[in-house]
Amino acid sequence: MITGPSGAGKGTLERELLRLLPGQLELAVSATTRPRRPGEEHGREYWFISAQEFARRVDADEFLEWVEYVSGHRYGTLRAEIDRIRTAGRAPMLDLEIEGALTVRDEVPGSVTVFVDAPLHELERRLRERATESTGEIHERVDLARRQKEHAGEFDYVVLNDDLGRAASELAGIVRRELTTATISRP
Ligand code: 5GP
Repeated sequence: MITGPSGAGKGTLERELLRLLPGQLELAVSATTRPRRPGEEHGREYWFISAQEFARRVDADEFLEWVEYVSGHRYGTLRAEIDRIRTAGRAPMLDLEIEGALTVRDEVPGSVTVFVDAPLHELERRLRERATESTGEIHERVDLARRQKEHAGEFDYVVLNDDLGRAASELAGIVRRELTTATISRP
């Protein structure tokens, strides 16, 4: 389970991790009600669903956890994704904001939690560069990032994403070690 402030570069780091450890991990694709950004695909980054569809799935208890995040958009981890990945003999990799991350940490035995951190000025720069959100939403996310950084110590590992290659190999080392000692990859 990977968490950290918005703009810490979790997505890039995760793609690099998958490249370094082929066939061992798979990203559990979350459902969200937020609009699709350019370049994103339904079923790859997220399952992009309507608020009604999301509510129906909440009622049907299809989510391991779900949250309402920036601008009232909802994000949730589908139990079916976790089951599918574990049945295939791989370890599910989850990318969650802090609140959902703490839920998974407390409720999923054997979960390994990593907080990906970055300096605040870096976070702000990356959020601006991405610039797909409105200015108001960027301020909202930077503010949130500042508060989220305070949670770093509540997770099993903290990886500072100052340099992609270095951070990715540190993360790959953690996952390799955990996969040999834990049961998280077994169905
Ligand atoms: P973004 O809108 O930038 O793709 O994601 C915003 C935040 O939502 C990120 O911090 C990401 O980790 C988090 N997120 C994505 N999917 C889920 C999910 O299923 N549950 C929770 N709790 N957070 C999620």
